[in-house]
Amino acid sequence: MRGGAVAVVGGSIAGSAFAGAAARLGAERVVVLERSPGRLEDRGLGICTHNDRFAELVDAGHLAPDTRRHRLTVRRWTARGPAGEGDGRHGRGRTLWLQPFPFHSHHWAVLWQTLREQAPESVEYRPGTTVTAVGDDRDGAWTEQADGTRTPYDLVIGADGYRSVVRAAVCPQAEPEYAGYVCWRGSYDSARLDALPGGAAAWPEEECATVCYPGGQVVLYRIPGLAPGSTQVNWVFYAPTPHWLRLDGPTAVAAGTLTDEQLDAMREFAARQLPPYWAGVIALTPRERTLLQPVYDLATPRRTAGRLLIGGDAATVVRPHNTSGAVKALQDAHAFEQAGRRLGGDTWAPLLAAYDLERSAAGLELVNLGRTLGRAQVTGAPDWSAMDEPAMAEWWRGQLGGGGGFGGHALGRAG
Ligand SMILES: Cc1cc2nc3c(=O)[nH]c(=O)nc-3n(C[C@H](O)[C@H](O)[C@H](O)COP(=O)(O)OP(=O)(O)OC[C@H]3O[C@@H](n4cnc5c(N)ncnc54)[C@H](O)[C@@H]3O)c2cc1C
Repeated sequence: MRGGAVAVVGGSIAGSAFAGAAARLGAERVVVLERSPGRLEDRGLGICTHNDRFAELVDAGHLAPDTRRHRLTVRRWTARGPAGEGDGRHGRGRTLWLQPFPFHSHHWAVLWQTLREQAPESVEYRPGTTVTAVGDDRDGAWTEQADGTRTPYDLVIGADGYRSVVRAAVCPQAEPEYAGYVCWRGSYDSARLDALPGGAAAWPEEECATVCYPGGQVVLYRIPGLAPGSTQVNWVFYAPTPHWLRLDGPTAVAAGTLTDEQLDAMREFAARQLPPYWAGVIALTPRERTLLQPVYDLATPRRTAGRLLIGGDAATVVRPHNTSGAVKALQDAHAFEQAGRRLGGDTWAPLLAAYDLERSAAGLELVNLGRTLGRAQVTGAPDWSAMDEPAMAEWWRGQLGGGGGFGGHALGRAG
């Protein structure tokens, strides 16, 4: 048993999973320090997990088999039809390809709730706690909170996302790199779709839509609503950098803070570029459910330094095209826990070294795949008007380059 006190900075997907893992490995105290004051339920965003990756994480005890989720089976790639041919049935565009899509979608808050429930009751959550610095010196690791207090720990785990304070201490040079485009995101109750010609019925529930336009795409799918039985629409719109966005460092524009002018410009852009049904889906999104995330990526050269460790997006930021971020975060926590079980002992040091070795390589591979997918689908996208089903299938195979990794690698696979 390792014992001691462990701080986990950040209580989202990675933080909840690492907290559970540290408690199961024998930490006497596990404290999750989370900046957001609420229950984080307002993060009504969608996450997809590959069915095989989800099943592995259930078998490993990280997720509950009955986690509420929405089944997706097919990814319909579409684009505007050539001039004169119209935009297909209900204005949904010309179908380029029906790709098998063995994924489920999740509401972020529902997934997070499941993770919280899987963690031992002894884990202590402290919402509304911002960590401003961490360190590791002769007396041990420590966190410093926004109120100036400093608390010693035996281990500090950074699960504080892409702008990680813990990463700044583990590898100060590593900064997320802007990919050159943004994603607008939105979500709302699916009942609103009835306002569109063809209504909700025009878009089958199990279909993930990928709507391509010159220089980008929109990915749209349903996710479970917070009320059992309900669903929400969730979309991610890859688009050029808006002229007003300041990119002095990693940033995002939170839901509810976009101006009318910014929102109108995005909706007009969608109306110009997309088949009308999908531009309509975006236009239905309330302001308080629309946000903007510039796309970044980052692979850190190492994940540990002394008694500090990073995981999830704090350690590796993968462009969202991979649909692998949540799975990657859970696999990080799994690798940490497995290394602890395998190595035994009564200190954290050997397991940190093993974790670093295994997950740094796996993270880099996913980052590289995300870059390839981003280039193929956004910055170097083909002429969609020339694409048909065989061309799309060939184009997709070229992106994967014979390897896997879309949706994340199998659990336990060496990096
Ligand atoms: C557009 C987009 C679409 C995506 N789609 C998918 C998908 O379909 N499937 C998928 O698997 N993944 C997807 N992802 C990625 C996924 O959301 C993340 O990779 C995953 O949630 C892991 O997040 P995390 O817990 O490491 O970090 P985060 O979710 O960023 O959590 C970090 C936490 O730390 C807290 N925090 C930050 N700083 C401090 C501090 N100083 N002190 C205290 N607390 C702090 C934050 O409040 C937050 O709660 C997507 C990402 C994007 C941007």
